[in-house]
Parts: sequence; C-alpha cells; structure tokens
Amino acid sequence: MTAWITGRIRYSVIIPMYNEEEVIAETYRRIKKVLSDTGESYELIFVNDGSRDRSEEIIKDYSQWDNTVKLINFSRNFGHQIAITAGMDYASGDAVVIIDADLQDPPELIHTMIARWKEGYEVVYAQRIKRKGESWFKKFTAGTFYRVLRAAADTPIPVDTGDFRLMDRKVVNELKQLPENNRFVRGLVSWVGFRQIAVEFERDERLAGETKYPLKRMVKLSLDGITSFSTKPLKIAGYAGGLLSGAGFLYLLYVIYCALFTDSTAKGWASLISLMLIFNGFILIMLGILGEYVGRIYDETKGRPLYIVKETRGLEQVKQREAAHRF
Ligand code: UDP
Ligand code: MG
Repeated sequence: MTAWITGRIRYSVIIPMYNEEEVIAETYRRIKKVLSDTGESYELIFVNDGSRDRSEEIIKDYSQWDNTVKLINFSRNFGHQIAITAGMDYASGDAVVIIDADLQDPPELIHTMIARWKEGYEVVYAQRIKRKGESWFKKFTAGTFYRVLRAAADTPIPVDTGDFRLMDRKVVNELKQLPENNRFVRGLVSWVGFRQIAVEFERDERLAGETKYPLKRMVKLSLDGITSFSTKPLKIAGYAGGLLSGAGFLYLLYVIYCALFTDSTAKGWASLISLMLIFNGFILIMLGILGEYVGRIYDETKGRPLYIVKETRGLEQVKQREAAHRF
C-alpha cells in the first residue's frame, strides 16, 4: 500500500527489443496482465536497441495512454547485454525482472519468481529444462557452452540459464557499480553473490520473427562469458608446452639410441612437416586466445560509455555511467 502512496515502484520489468515489431504488442499484453495481477505498482521498461522497424513507434504509442510503459531509446544497436544493463540503470523497482521480448520466456513465471523473492531470495533465475522449436545446432552449441563455462569459470555460473530472472534492488545496485564493457550479465549476477535460487521452466518457441542472435553474436557472447570469468585458456599454452617438450626430449633420446646402436638412419620428412603444421597451428591458436584477452583489455581501457541514449519516455534522466572512473 505504501508503495502507491509514496509513488515507489515495486517491480521493474526490463524488456530489450531489437526489431521486434511482430511480437511486441502481444508481449506487452501478456506481461501487463501478469504485473497487474500482482496488485502492486510496476513499470515496464522497454529498451529499444536501435531497431530499424516500428518497435519504437509502437511503444511510444502505448506510453501515451499507459504510464507504466517506459522507453529507453538507444542511438544505435548496442547489443542485448548492454540493453539490459541500461534497463537496470534506469529501473527503480524494489525487484527488477529481465525478460526477452519474443515470449520465449513465459511472463507467467514472474509470479513464481515474486513468490520466491518474498521468501527472501535475492536472485531468482529461470533455468530451462527444455527448449522448444530451436534447432539441434542451437541446443547443442548452447548446451556445450554452458558446460565449458562451468568447467572453466572461477565463479560458478548456473547451466542452461539465460537472462530471464528477478533481482532484488540490492543486487541491481551492486551490478550498477560494475563498469566492464564486454558484459556477460548472467555471470556478473552470479559473481555478486547473495541468496540465489533457480525456478525451472520450458522455453517456448519465439512467437514470431527470427532470432537476433546469429552465430557470430553467439560466439561473441560465449567468448565474453569465458574471458570475463576465467583465465584458464591462457594457461593451456603453458601446460601444452611442458607436455610437448617432455615428449620431444624422450624422442631425442630414442633418436640418439638409434644412431648409436642400430643401422637405421634418421628419416621422416613427411612426419616432420605434419608435426610442424600441427605445432605452428597450435601456436597461432594460442596467439588468437591471447588476442581475445588483449582486445578486451584494450576495450576496457578506452573507458567509453556502455551505451548512448537518444531519448527516454517516462523515465528520470539517470546520471551517465561513469565508465572511465577506474582509470
Ligand atoms: N536483442 C537486443 N539487441 C540485440 C539482439 C537481441 O535487444 O542486438 C533482444 C531481442 O529483441 C530479444 C532478446 O534480446 O528480446 C533475445 O534475443 P533473441 O530472442 O533474438 O535471442 P535467442 O532467444 O534466439 O537466443
Ligand atoms: Mg529469443
């Protein structure tokens, strides 16, 4: 009750959208229904991540007669992870929910999340036990990625978990302090800690339209995840180098033995070439891995803001993130 009187907002829902004109009306309807059923105050923050279709106009239109609808309009496409970060920067609710715009995350699950939050959990994340309507390739690569990440990461990051989750204000305030550019938000949420719990769900098919995560973006997200939470790939070269020089040394002993005690002369041009290709390839791969890290260090040192907002609707202007404050 106090929330209504003081104008405080209980729930903020962040909906990133990139060319989602086909689905956004239905998404709005379903999320709105869930939130009004809670009987508490709420805001729906749509983050328009540089859409080139009518997503922006549709939300602007809604915001004229529904004051729970708010809009952050980016100056261009900055990517999904940055869009949800901006949503968190502007959100003012006691609990903040992140949900995809394409209804692959069922809004009705928010009721369950709220119930767990009220029990005292500070992060309630949705874990997929099934993915419907996605290609075997996507399921396979996503499944493998989460497991590699779990093995590599220094912070345990739950498997099969996207960004669909509810976070307490305390968690959001901590996340707002993290300035990194190459963001892997679900990992950062694990990293900040607090009491976290999973709720399971079956991931639906996209209502309409196509995935905005083509392979290239999936690879980028995976690399961001691994490089942000692990330095193990950098150590592979050290271990492999040790192993290979050990093997080389043993082989040398064998060659010396052959030369001294047998008649066979050293041959093997073909095997020499293939070994050279393998090892040179390996060195280049390691250089590539090194490059991934160095490139990210470079990105961070530039200290550019994470995003540029063209305009907002229904939101107070928040102070621009102090991206460069650490340097
Ligand atoms: N999205 C975004 N910016 C982007 C790409 C995607 O805001 O550059 C949004 C998109 O509109 C959707 C969510 O992020 O609400 C997840 O994207 P999508 O459904 O395409 O990914 P998938 O579910 O296929 O992994
Ligand atoms: Mg989707």
